[in-house]
Amino acid sequence: MVQKLISRLSSEKLPAILRIQTVALRAISDYMEGQNVPQIMPILLSPITDPLNHEVFDAEVSYYDQRLQLTRSITIHKPLILMGHLKGFFCFSPNIRLEKAEKSKTGRHLIEFTQVEMEFKEFDKKRFMGFVEGLVRHVISRVIAECADELKLLGRKLEIPEGPFRTFESSELAAVLGEGYDDKLSETSRQPFWVLSLKREFYDREDKERRGYYHNYDLIWPEGFGEALSGGEREFEYKEVIRKMKERHMEIEPYESYLRILKTGNVPRTAGGGLGVERLVRFLTGLRDIDEVTLFPRKAGAKIEL
Ligand code: AMP
Ligand code: MG
Repeated sequence: MVQKLISRLSSEKLPAILRIQTVALRAISDYMEGQNVPQIMPILLSPITDPLNHEVFDAEVSYYDQRLQLTRSITIHKPLILMGHLKGFFCFSPNIRLEKAEKSKTGRHLIEFTQVEMEFKEFDKKRFMGFVEGLVRHVISRVIAECADELKLLGRKLEIPEGPFRTFESSELAAVLGEGYDDKLSETSRQPFWVLSLKREFYDREDKERRGYYHNYDLIWPEGFGEALSGGEREFEYKEVIRKMKERHMEIEPYESYLRILKTGNVPRTAGGGLGVERLVRFLTGLRDIDEVTLFPRKAGAKIEL
């Protein structure tokens, strides 16, 4: 096992992967700065974190008499950050999600990863999607311009995707392609695309006039690389949040402070999302297994040695 770790860290691909990652992260920061979007530092511990819409093992620590969760995502915190004068922000946000081992089959599930989290006041989904398309095109164009040798070494050909990206309603895709529709469509696509309206966590906004319609979105990488980003317009009204938490049989008590803030009516309408960094690097490098883009094994179900 130690031998495997040694050859993994000695691979000639590693400097190429890290160069591409470096250029991509710089391109993200440049794009944000160009749009006047400030960067915040990560939030790593809180009594509450993203409930997610799939099951993971608990990751908690004790601190005096408190139980604190390791961050699965900062989605719950994000709209609160925009209560005052800030119009938006981004963050390279580390997440711990102790995923079930069966997720390793997807080739894109780690137990420790980083998201580029973004959230904006008064953005609707259309504006956010346009912002992300600009970001993706900028990152890919920087990598093509600055990483020709590395892309060649990895045998990867990249193209700058044309905008606007295509959009599909999840219900329509499901009706035609059945379960796993996003992966199926990703296999045959040459360009990234959006899937709209997915039923999931309480915090994505549900249409009041059209119950069951969610103002959220996933960005899907083409060529079989699958999901890149999830996000949505957020529920910002106390009544809606409570209704949806109850609908999902969630325990309300841990969310008390969050709910009290919502009740003041100071939390603005926001939209945002999180782009997986390792999944971005996996797509940019063309490496099919996300295990290849991390230094030490962190894939779902992996034995952690170091
Ligand atoms: P979510 O809101 O749960 O979809 O997470 C946001 C983004 O984070 C996803 O679209 C992925 O790019 C990334 N992500 C989520 N879970 C994982 C994971 N287990 N391993 C690597 N990246 C992940
Ligand atoms: Mg998702």
